[in-house]
Amino acid sequence: MRNAIQLRYTPLQDATNRVSKETKQAMPAAEAPAIFDLAIIGGGINGCGVAREAAGRGWSVYLCEANDLASATSAASTKLVHGGLRYLEHRAFRLVREALREREVLWGIAPHIIWPLRFVLPYHKGLRPAWKLRLGLALYDNLGGRRRLPGTRLVKLRRDPAGQPLKSDYTLGFEYSDCWVEDARLVVLNAMDAAERGAVIAPRTRCIGAERNAEGWTLHLQHMRTGDRQVIRARALVNAAGPWVGDVLHKLVRANTAAKLRMVKGSHIVVRKLYPGGQCYVFQNEDRRIVFVIPYERDFTLIGTTDLDYEGDPADVSASTEEIAYLCRSASAYLRVPVTPAQLVWTYSGVRPLFDDGAPAAQAATRDYVLELDLAAGQGALLSVFGGKITTYRRLAQAVLDRLEPHLPPAVRLQPGWTGSAPLPGGDFPVGGFDVILAGLQARYPFIAPDTLHRLVRAYGTLASDMLGDADSPAALGTIFGGDLSEREVRYLVRAEWAVTAADILWRRSKLGLRMTPQQMAHLDAFMTALQPEQERVL
Ligand SMILES: Cc1cc2nc3c(=O)[nH]c(=O)nc-3n(C[C@H](O)[C@H](O)[C@H](O)COP(=O)(O)OP(=O)(O)OC[C@H]3O[C@@H](n4cnc5c(N)ncnc54)[C@H](O)[C@@H]3O)c2cc1C
Repeated sequence: MRNAIQLRYTPLQDATNRVSKETKQAMPAAEAPAIFDLAIIGGGINGCGVAREAAGRGWSVYLCEANDLASATSAASTKLVHGGLRYLEHRAFRLVREALREREVLWGIAPHIIWPLRFVLPYHKGLRPAWKLRLGLALYDNLGGRRRLPGTRLVKLRRDPAGQPLKSDYTLGFEYSDCWVEDARLVVLNAMDAAERGAVIAPRTRCIGAERNAEGWTLHLQHMRTGDRQVIRARALVNAAGPWVGDVLHKLVRANTAAKLRMVKGSHIVVRKLYPGGQCYVFQNEDRRIVFVIPYERDFTLIGTTDLDYEGDPADVSASTEEIAYLCRSASAYLRVPVTPAQLVWTYSGVRPLFDDGAPAAQAATRDYVLELDLAAGQGALLSVFGGKITTYRRLAQAVLDRLEPHLPPAVRLQPGWTGSAPLPGGDFPVGGFDVILAGLQARYPFIAPDTLHRLVRAYGTLASDMLGDADSPAALGTIFGGDLSEREVRYLVRAEWAVTAADILWRRSKLGLRMTPQQMAHLDAFMTALQPEQERVL
């Protein structure tokens, strides 16, 4: 296994480690109103989704994020925009319907980072009966306004290529559709769009205190690299701190609330590509859980996830030996060639910040979002977000603003839910879509390898040409740090996407860390540190 310590994703730590006094930089002075309509704590998918919806509707918005955008749960998901087939068993019909509907909406607004996948679910004698799988998938196909995604089909695994990686005991399966999402990029694109619509986005800025009064909120903020402090005021506050939602409520706001958070840890493992073909698998386990096996980053396979109650610091979460063994066992129960811990190239883990509905097992706790609105008499409104999924973030954002609207000045711009039809940055695909953009780039930058251009269109969509700009030769791309990461791309990510550290680029804006040696990562790290004085986003 590649050095797990080096590769392990460490939220909330990389921001502070390397800042020396010499590199300290003043917190950029935002051109802020005297009082924002809305302040948001947390730059995960929910905070950034709320920021985008609110800015588009005309409210002034301030968002602070203690570390990098998407540095916690929102970069540690299975990366599926999905209804959640297994939630049907828990009769979570509202959640599944809403999530299924969102699949095609999100694919439409961000076709560069969201795309359809086919999942093969083998029938396993002794587990769920075939009639139950068929019924569940019929519901899944029809519950959520599916238009463009293909429906379910029966697969004879002995004859179908999808059966080849599987043991011969599995003869029957069902193939259905869901979508893939680059989760951390979805967060950043929401933040970019919010900023373009006037929101102030402040990564690496921790909220360290919050006071409420008749006008609203006073937030005390600290920049995590410089230590600089700042105070802002806002009429209403959204607590979208994910696994820290309880800390914000109890330690910062000192709110009197009965709502309880249930932290559930999930881990994934990444191994070298296990089989050819683009199909994913859904394997049922004897403990009634399911595990996904998904082609990943062209040369790898992603396997996950686990579901375990978690009590530690969410920033310290990592995959345990038991979880790794569990995931290897689950995949090996179905695949012809077993998966072993020795094959691991990377692991990542995250904590689901679920609403505690008292379910006996972690896997049964509701994945639906719960919004708690606290209106202390005559003082600023506070709305806390529990639970939710990447898939439903846009609907959650709408619901948050529906609840807060009566406590905010009248909105003056776009209609509620405008985010469902306005493309995210780079998602304004021309007729002909991905292939047309790729062909355009190939004609304009013939000296860049086709695989690299493909990766760049997947990452930046129509903005790939902004990133490459006037480059007219390999030399114009600058240093190549490793993989196919060029200095030009690094500088773009610093300028346009708030990247500050090597980890921001290698594990969140991209997954190029999978392709780089520790020396190459160290080189990038040194380059980023030297860049720090320039690191002010100038979109
Ligand atoms: C293993 C796993 C697999 C999953 N798979 C899927 C999936 O396939 N599909 C799907 O739809 N969903 C999935 N989810 C669910 C989804 O990832 C989460 O619901 C979602 O990412 C939560 O986002 P969030 O914005 O609420 O929290 P986070 O992403 O954790 O963001 C909260 C942010 O708040 C910041 N913060 C905390 N305190 C402060 C403070 N005082 N000041 C400033 N900032 C602060 C943190 O640094 C953090 O970045 C999965 C979750 C897990 C754990």
